[in-house]
Amino acid sequence: MKHKMKVINSIQQMKKMIHRYKKQGETIGFVPTMGYLHEGHLALVKQAKEENDFVVMSIFVNPAQFGPGEDYETYPRNEQRDFALATEAGVNLVFMPDVVEMYPRESTIHISPGNQANALCGMSRPGHFDGVLKVILKLFNMIEPTRSYFGMKDAQQLAIIETFVEDFNFNTEIRRVPTVREADGLAKSSRNVRLSAEERNEAPIIYQALTLGKQVFLETQDGEEAEKQMRQLIEENSSGKIDYMTVLDYPSLKKWTRSSSEIILACAVQFEKTRLIDNIILKIKG
Ligand code: AMP
Repeated sequence: MKHKMKVINSIQQMKKMIHRYKKQGETIGFVPTMGYLHEGHLALVKQAKEENDFVVMSIFVNPAQFGPGEDYETYPRNEQRDFALATEAGVNLVFMPDVVEMYPRESTIHISPGNQANALCGMSRPGHFDGVLKVILKLFNMIEPTRSYFGMKDAQQLAIIETFVEDFNFNTEIRRVPTVREADGLAKSSRNVRLSAEERNEAPIIYQALTLGKQVFLETQDGEEAEKQMRQLIEENSSGKIDYMTVLDYPSLKKWTRSSSEIILACAVQFEKTRLIDNIILKIKG
């Protein structure tokens, strides 16, 4: 029998469904996305299916997390293709509200992330993580997930959400899912379709640079040297402009120290129409 997937647009209906699941004692795995699905999203679904009775995916391009002049309008969208992929992956329910349903009026209460937003994308996209937390808080309240799945590709987002959940005692367990890549190393992203053919050829240099940085760091324990070599490799091989290229402690996103147990090598590159991010997280001994 073909797997049946429900698509719900209304919050009220969504809450009704969730109460039905909960009454039956079912666990809910939640995968928040902005759609235009790819294998990265599907890896989150796969893990969610393995660990829960029901999988709920949200598809919502969240205007609150885009700044003025960013790509909210041109962010790639394709509902029918998303439904087909989500059905095939075994998602039970897609929650796809429109902007008015999610934000019926201007909010007067704001949530702001702490220090973890004072680095990386938080620096170049002011307000971005405020918008992420706003939508995540609303979605958590609507869906009441047992477990919620986030990709390590967006490592800063993941770190901030982990802190959010801990600080405010949300009843959901945050699960980290490793980055899924193309065969040439480029991290899968909905935004990759916005690269020109030439940029697409250059883009794998980002992961090559991070891999080089990892080697340099492991050999020398010298973060600055790793940064320098990563930067140089990208500058020499790509038309994209480096927004940041940094080695930091993870998940604090402060300067790394000898007692750091994990560090992140993180990079953002601005191409003509799109900005790509990627990272490698290294477990190091304290
Ligand atoms: P997005 O639709 O880009 O907001 O992403 C939705 C979720 O999918 C986030 O938790 C992302 O971190 C995750 N994700 C996006 N790309 C990848 C990838 N290449 N590998 C693993 N997870 C990903």
